[in-house]
Amino acid sequence: MKIGVPAEIDGGETRVAATPETIKKFIALGATVAVERGAGLASRITDPDYEAVGATIAPDAAAAVADADVVLKVRRPLESELPGYKSGALVIATMDPYGHEDAVNAMGEAGITAIAMEFMPRITRAQVMDILSSQANLAGYQAVIDAASTYDRALPMMMTAAGTVPAARVFVMGAGVAGLQAIATARRLGAVVTATDVRPAAKEQVESLGAKFVAVEDEEFKQAETATGYAKPMSPEYQVKQAALVAEHIKKQDIVITTALIPGRAAPRLVTAAMVASMRPGAVLVDLAVERGGNVEGSKPGEVVDLDGRRIVGYLNVAGRIAATASQLYAKNLAAFLETLVDKTSKELAVNWDDELVRATVLTRDGAVVHPAFKPKTV
Ligand code: NAD
Repeated sequence: MKIGVPAEIDGGETRVAATPETIKKFIALGATVAVERGAGLASRITDPDYEAVGATIAPDAAAAVADADVVLKVRRPLESELPGYKSGALVIATMDPYGHEDAVNAMGEAGITAIAMEFMPRITRAQVMDILSSQANLAGYQAVIDAASTYDRALPMMMTAAGTVPAARVFVMGAGVAGLQAIATARRLGAVVTATDVRPAAKEQVESLGAKFVAVEDEEFKQAETATGYAKPMSPEYQVKQAALVAEHIKKQDIVITTALIPGRAAPRLVTAAMVASMRPGAVLVDLAVERGGNVEGSKPGEVVDLDGRRIVGYLNVAGRIAATASQLYAKNLAAFLETLVDKTSKELAVNWDDELVRATVLTRDGAVVHPAFKPKTV
């Protein structure tokens, strides 16, 4: 079994899909591994680091993926890359398929088996393979670091001979994986933290981290969590009540971190321009939902917007801003999944196509799009 690890060609991508730690495991499983020259550099992994565990260094992407039975990537391969892939190759990546149906079709036509890691079911067995959690956790951490470094004041209370510095007030909106890590990080930095969410289960989690929960807790709130643990879109009536509460709360905040998402939809708009204007100059808002339309009115993908001294930070690929750790965890997620696809005796790929993890994640196979969400509809 040959595994190929090409470098990411998207200019903004700093992560890499395999680390010396995971490659060591693959080699122990009987695989050979080819890594494209320089693929790990942005994650502080050098070619000799890879060679030291037994990988070979390929001079270019084509050489890394040629004849590979498995290709590990962070992002979906571009159409221009596909001719270099072996027919039937298993390509494991973040496929980002919604809104990119043409790219999914192209992968089908190229004959590769495209595996979308973001579709991994969030069940106990697959926790170790959950890229959404591993990367959202780091994004929540990094959002606070970005906020702190943009903010012109200190976060912790400091009593010094030259005077007392008050603690910053941080408000985290959306207390899922990213939000909970943002709360924990802001608390560690000494901020006074409040948080909101529409799921009742979030309340206890927020409070267990030492933050205060602020939310409209009406009858709709009690029903706002779906069977799979996600938030439902809230009614216009709820949104009005929520906006009134947020408007009152936010004007006393120094830093706001927004992380609110609803699966398959645009991010809910939680902070209006008027709310931003109500904050004092120097306030910082970090919008982690910016790639999905943004929780904050006026946030721009990849930009820091300054509105009369209130700054809205809209960095993209926030986990990638802490690339070495993000790659370490992402690569581990992929390795844990790949190990389940290999027969330990023959040391060859032996995919059980009926396994629920495989069924949930396979987008294309045998020249066709097979995932129910993307399969061409039959009449
Ligand atoms: P997510 O990224 O989809 O959304 C982030 C947060 O935004 C969620 O907490 C959501 O409730 C909140 N939100 C949505 N609309 C909102 C609104 N209008 N106002 C305020 N907040 C709003 O969520 P996630 O981080 O992926 O987590 C979703 C759920 O999955 C959580 O219950 C989490 O505990 C669970 N989870 C389970 C596992 C597992 O069992 N393996 C792993 C990870 C997460």
